Amino acid sequence: MIGRSADVAIVGGGLMGVWTAFFLARSGRRVVLFEKGPVGAQSSGVNFGNLRLQGRFGGQYPLSLRSHALWEDFEALTGETCEFEATGHLYVAANADEAARLEGYARQAEAHGIAIERVGGNELRRRWPWLGEGVHAATYSARDATANPRLATPAAARAALRLGAEIREGVRVTDVRREGDGFTVELEGAGTLSFGAVVNAAGAWALSIAERFGESAPLFPAGPPHFVTEPVPYRIVPSVQAVDGSVIARQIPRGNVIMAGYPRTASDPVLNRAPVPPAKTLAGMGHLARTLPALRHAHVIRVWSGIEGYLPDMLPVIGPSVTTPGLFHAFGFCGHGFQLGPGVGAALAELIVDGTSPTPLTPFSIGRFGQGVAVSDKFLKEFDQPAAVTS
Ligand SMILES: Cc1cc2nc3c(=O)[nH]c(=O)nc-3n(C[C@H](O)[C@H](O)[C@H](O)COP(=O)(O)OP(=O)(O)OC[C@H]3O[C@@H](n4cnc5c(N)ncnc54)[C@H](O)[C@@H]3O)c2cc1C
Repeated sequence: MIGRSADVAIVGGGLMGVWTAFFLARSGRRVVLFEKGPVGAQSSGVNFGNLRLQGRFGGQYPLSLRSHALWEDFEALTGETCEFEATGHLYVAANADEAARLEGYARQAEAHGIAIERVGGNELRRRWPWLGEGVHAATYSARDATANPRLATPAAARAALRLGAEIREGVRVTDVRREGDGFTVELEGAGTLSFGAVVNAAGAWALSIAERFGESAPLFPAGPPHFVTEPVPYRIVPSVQAVDGSVIARQIPRGNVIMAGYPRTASDPVLNRAPVPPAKTLAGMGHLARTLPALRHAHVIRVWSGIEGYLPDMLPVIGPSVTTPGLFHAFGFCGHGFQLGPGVGAALAELIVDGTSPTPLTPFSIGRFGQGVAVSDKFLKEFDQPAAVTS
């Protein structure tokens, strides 16, 4: 349309925004992405790097599998590497109840064609001799993978640029308004531009855009505390996750062990801070020593967390606005959006270009909050008390 700056504006240069820009540009759309800082500097750049297929919400498997195939193709798509490696993912259980939970996850994954091995008894220690005595049973998925979050989003952004997308870093969107059959996007200190469609991929900051269009969601910012140890001899190859959520750990070839400890902790999107209380480091390393005893004397050399949007059903918002044609949301990834990023970008680009996507997104509609959502057990465990969110 005459007078438009481009077809689509994307607010947010995390994985969601960047992959949406990539696929839109590949479909020949003129797209401009606005990022208030550098691309991939928030959750997308500080996460654990797990690309886990086991233990997902059933309705998310079509999207997750689609995304996984894109991760597997990352180098061909972007022309760069991001340390993607099919390390496999080992889920461990400490007792029969937890093993039953793993069995439920395994069946669900298998129903979507993912190969899951059940491993118990002597076989556990033979294959993974570094596991602690408290580990009673495990499931292993060989296709699950890891990648380096520091590398992935900037690489995808450079690929989008090469396809013709415009990426404007250090530009904050301060307002988005409906105008005619399009949108006016106001930029801090950089005037206003007009677009046919807008993608709200603003992560933990996304409500400020959604609410301008009469939509909301009970989003709050938090993040899992992360710790990294000094380098120790390299031998832990799959990612290891305790099904009770107390430990997620992986070792990189340089020797450092990266560990995420739960419960999550509050973060502050206004001050742009995600502090880790020291008590969480001590508790997290205690859990790690039980699951991987060889690490009981390893020194932690750095701690961090991130500013991620969480929702009570622990599912993201992905898809069209229910109030405003031409507006699309992708936010609130509740700690599992790294794996979903490329798939979300591909599906959103289809929605914008074709009006439909073969990947089902209905469970993730923002409209679900108007009907009241079921609060997930995981959410209750971590966030039932307001104090748990603010401690
Ligand atoms: C510590 C941690 C560990 C995690 N580990 C994993 C994991 O192992 N596996 C996994 O699958 N997921 C993991 N996640 C979750 C995953 O990182 C996120 O779900 C994902 O990165 C979300 O991407 P995003 O693009 O929605 O958000 P973000 O990466 O937060 O990007 C949103 C961007 O929007 C920008 N923005 C906001 N408002 C504006 C505005 N008004 N104008 C311009 N720009 C704006 C922000 O600056 C930000 O860069 C983890 C998250 C954290 C915090």
